[in-house]
Amino acid sequence: MMETHERSIAGHVDAERLWRRHMELAQYGATANGGVNRQALSDEEVAARRVLVGWGEAIGLVASNDGAGNLFLRLAGTEPDLAPVLIGSHIDSQPTGGKFDGAFGVLAALESVEAIVAAGVRPRRAIDVVAWMNEEGSRFAPGMMGSAAFTGARKLADILAVHDADGVGVATEIAKVLAAEPDLPRRPLGFPVAAFVEAHIEQGPILEVEGRTVGVVTGIQGKRTFRVTVTGEENHAGTSPRSVRRDALVSAVAMVQALQEAMWDEADVVRFTIGRFEVTPNAPSVVPARVVFSIDLRHPDADTLRDLGDRIPRICTDAAGCCAVDVRELLHDPPLTFPDAVRDRIRAAAADLGITWMDIPSGAGHDARYLHYHCPTGMIFIPCKNGLSHHEAESATKDDIAAGARVLAETAFGLANAE
Ligand SMILES: [Zn+2]
Repeated sequence: MMETHERSIAGHVDAERLWRRHMELAQYGATANGGVNRQALSDEEVAARRVLVGWGEAIGLVASNDGAGNLFLRLAGTEPDLAPVLIGSHIDSQPTGGKFDGAFGVLAALESVEAIVAAGVRPRRAIDVVAWMNEEGSRFAPGMMGSAAFTGARKLADILAVHDADGVGVATEIAKVLAAEPDLPRRPLGFPVAAFVEAHIEQGPILEVEGRTVGVVTGIQGKRTFRVTVTGEENHAGTSPRSVRRDALVSAVAMVQALQEAMWDEADVVRFTIGRFEVTPNAPSVVPARVVFSIDLRHPDADTLRDLGDRIPRICTDAAGCCAVDVRELLHDPPLTFPDAVRDRIRAAAADLGITWMDIPSGAGHDARYLHYHCPTGMIFIPCKNGLSHHEAESATKDDIAAGARVLAETAFGLANAE
């Protein structure tokens, strides 16, 4: 009986409407090169939220928001006392982002609810389509602010105190966003949630290479970040002989080389990146006195991540030569594994619909990371062209988008009827 319902729901996913909405939403913050610049809490995002609310209200969903600027569109369930199922992602983008990162998860969630309404069925639990505030963290760092505030991973007061490069505060901009939605009821942060499912483009090449349409995300790899400060001594480029120099750049480059060698793995699973490198005084005729560089280390296995990360200070010290080095760890997020209960449901939905799937880890962070510690959580990936994301040319096909929405619709309806 249940299966009949679910199949009939997936059958109501409208691929054309879903594609059209991706193109329409992409107009808010559209760039000349076909990308999207719709940064968190911007006027473009306010306009995009208004469009979402309009689409939701047209099918009877009730829009609401919370003090962190998260936006919800609720399909009521038949048993109002039960905790809702949340499905969604984010609609903010990188400055040179694409049409699908985040937007797909929110629009597929809305399409799932549209399909349930069109099928003429009601879940026991309410289903809330959610757009989390500031996932990208490009304007206000770090990202995933809305989901962090909602789940209590970060204090709202700390988030409100963050400013962008122009000195504009999150507090000011959330107030602006909420003022633009005066009719929406305000919900508390952290209300009980029965389950959360986030659909997202893969942002990597694996599904495309493997020829599968849906990725059942097994978990999110762990991440450690460090700041390394190398201190030498400023000197004259023409007069100081090598024997007296304490060149911070020379030492730092030796560290980079040693780290690259230590982090190299045959299987190519370790993700090791030095993305920022600052030389002081950065003058052509001055021996560098100071170098600060960043380390971003990721791995899906907790023990490997710990062992590799723990080796970093010693490797830097050994390569420091005559300079001093300070290694500071800024973040240690262990890898997480989504629960079988949610993954099994996603797999079964894909299999029932004849949609090819595979298990896949997430290399990137997502709002699902924080929700995982709040309620049973899972993620559904679809392919994106050439694995490209955070790029104006980011692309996904109409068929894959619709397939992802069908799997999400069945998964959400199943979760909303579960005990
Ligand atoms: Zn995203």
